Amino acid sequence: MSKLKVYFTDHYEVELPEGHRFPMFKYRLLRETLISQKIIQTQQLEPTPLLDDYVLSFVHTEDYIQKVKHSKLERNLERLSGFPQSQKMYLRSLASVCATILATEHALNYGISATISGGTHHAYPDRGEGFCVFNDVAVAINYFKHQKKIKRPFVVDLDVHQGNGTAVIFQNDPDTFTFSFHGEKNYPFRKEKSDFDFGFPPHTEDGTYLFNLQLYLSQYIETHKPDILFYNAGVDVIKQDKLGSLDLSFEGCLERDMMVFYLAQKYSLPVVVVMGGGYAKPIDPTIHAQLNLFKEMNNFEI
Ligand SMILES: [Zn+2]
Repeated sequence: MSKLKVYFTDHYEVELPEGHRFPMFKYRLLRETLISQKIIQTQQLEPTPLLDDYVLSFVHTEDYIQKVKHSKLERNLERLSGFPQSQKMYLRSLASVCATILATEHALNYGISATISGGTHHAYPDRGEGFCVFNDVAVAINYFKHQKKIKRPFVVDLDVHQGNGTAVIFQNDPDTFTFSFHGEKNYPFRKEKSDFDFGFPPHTEDGTYLFNLQLYLSQYIETHKPDILFYNAGVDVIKQDKLGSLDLSFEGCLERDMMVFYLAQKYSLPVVVVMGGGYAKPIDPTIHAQLNLFKEMNNFEI
């Protein structure tokens, strides 16, 4: 029996204005397809409850939390986040942080867990950006470090966009390693400095991508000696993605995931998988790549 647990948050619904670029429906669609294709059993799925919002303060400024909570963001900050502010958006964003916290707890006990949300790596302590309101992985890391349950986290961010918020949050934290593979021409156009960054030119294909992943990821895991991996498994690296500039195939994307899991198992590291981006239009190729990822997670054992 797989030890995988999957936390979801689509019961905190947010309706976006018609024509909004963000495919909010993809979360529910993925959850339903995981069940209908019998990739995940119903008992492996957990609806995420809301934790006290003080958890946000492990990363975010009080001023920013209050503004998001009461829909009082200035217009420019609201626009930067990519979403219209509302109470529902606040609850959904909080829920997605809670999902990553609960998933981390599960991974520490059982080796692996995932969220159908999260990977909101563009959020900074005092602002959101690019469809990211709060930085779920950063909050979970600081929360569990504070609880002394983890010491040397390692963020493997393979979403096609650079994890700029995460890079800045951990810039002065030598215990937390931030590793980012991304499209050099993709948003954010001004990149921040992660502990390791690799920007690929547009239309990079499987061979180059996987060669470098195998080379650098194993090297940095080896030298940092982490005790947990946080994997942002954004599938916006596939050729069909409308926002991503890279040209990975479904097989290449799956091999990427398998490489992360292979290394985690090799070094006996628990893994928390967060969803990150995926913007194919229609959405089917995105969901297809994510189903492959979830199938693979069921085989994970440390
Ligand atoms: Zn992305």
